[in-house]
Amino acid sequence: MSHVFPRHCHATLPTAVAGDGCYLIDTQGKRYFDASGGAAVSCLGHSDETIKNAIKDQVDQLAFAHTGFFTSEPAEALADLLIANAPEGIDRVYFVSGGSEAVEAAIKLARQYFLEVGQTERRHLIARRQSYHGNTLGALAAGGNAWRRAQFDPLLIGVSHIAPCYEYAEREEGESLADYGQRAADELEAEILRLGPETVMGFIAEPVVGATLGAVPAVEGYFARIREICDRYGVLLILDEVMCGMGRTGHLFACEGEGVRPDIVTIAKGLGAGYQPVGAMLCSGAIYDAIAKGTGFFQHGHTYIGHPVATAAGLAVVRQMLERDLPARVRALAPLMERALRDRLGQHEHLGDIRGRGLFWGVELVADRGTKAPFDPSRKLAGRIKTEAMARGLICYPMPGTRDGRNGDHVLLAPPFIMEDDEAALIADRLGDAIEAAL
Ligand code: PLP
Repeated sequence: MSHVFPRHCHATLPTAVAGDGCYLIDTQGKRYFDASGGAAVSCLGHSDETIKNAIKDQVDQLAFAHTGFFTSEPAEALADLLIANAPEGIDRVYFVSGGSEAVEAAIKLARQYFLEVGQTERRHLIARRQSYHGNTLGALAAGGNAWRRAQFDPLLIGVSHIAPCYEYAEREEGESLADYGQRAADELEAEILRLGPETVMGFIAEPVVGATLGAVPAVEGYFARIREICDRYGVLLILDEVMCGMGRTGHLFACEGEGVRPDIVTIAKGLGAGYQPVGAMLCSGAIYDAIAKGTGFFQHGHTYIGHPVATAAGLAVVRQMLERDLPARVRALAPLMERALRDRLGQHEHLGDIRGRGLFWGVELVADRGTKAPFDPSRKLAGRIKTEAMARGLICYPMPGTRDGRNGDHVLLAPPFIMEDDEAALIADRLGDAIEAAL
């Protein structure tokens, strides 16, 4: 009997014993093409020698030094490299161990910033429905996924949720994309005015929505309007790039591709590429300066922040991303992925939508193509797709709807940037077979 407390108490999972490029291998020698990188993590595949060596060298040199006493060379170098390639105005990097921690730090930083500048009433955070920002209590409160939140609601800080920019489901008949984008963004202004602008500290959103909706980019103009509204009311714009950042959408920072500038941005998953648990919260120089000139101390911090081995891995990842220009490779692979998915699934009677950016794709399944009605959650379609896909040697990331009836089951794909051109068809074929078997 296993003594591990697993995610799912009754699931019987294979044991992964090795990684080889885009593949994971279990004890039976079965090979699984990792088309979701776990959950958008393994962007460089599972056996990258450069990263493995960077980790080994760092452990030999220095395994750990507490950030209360020392800084370290890899943390400094990684921060320099990230800032040299960060969106305009972003000037400081606060390292953490994962995505939830990065979001938690972002929320606390927003609050502390306004205390430092004397706007002490600013305490409200606005987020979007059908969003996921992590599982720690602050990050969970920010997320709008009803299913994930339900049992913890009494423990969560109050966060307002507005509509996501989710054109497939929410654009009205006859409404132009531009009008829809403005209407969705204007919900932010309405909510700020309802709460009282002097009480709002931040708005958090993913530039391209990952887990909850399945690779949904905003329509053009949406984020420009969001930025305008944040500026008008002095609200900080927090972009959560934990899933969509680090090259995944074809840009090192996803917000570059979406043409929006954040005040705070969070990254994780692809930063360590699965080789180490590392994330970061990056903020503008103005926010950092307010703290540096005020109390001089961000009232936060975990033991493992800025871990030398984790940041050495992150440094090796980002260096490869830039030296090999992997974001450009991701942009080149994007149309191949889209074509393969459309060829295999586009005509299927339960195919609702195929959407994405770069190597971040979502396939939404619906009970009825005409009405876009989702499948009944009791069918547990997402879980069955996962099982069927694994049986066919494919790892993908199917997710059920958020249980508020607003969206249905979808499958998220986030394959490694090192995949070959013809592997787009392999992914689409195995996924198509798995979906058909599960339906
Ligand atoms: N933010 C987003 C957008 C995510 O997709 C996730 C995880 O899926 C998180 C935050 C939480 O990251 P982690 O699981 O590393 O804590």
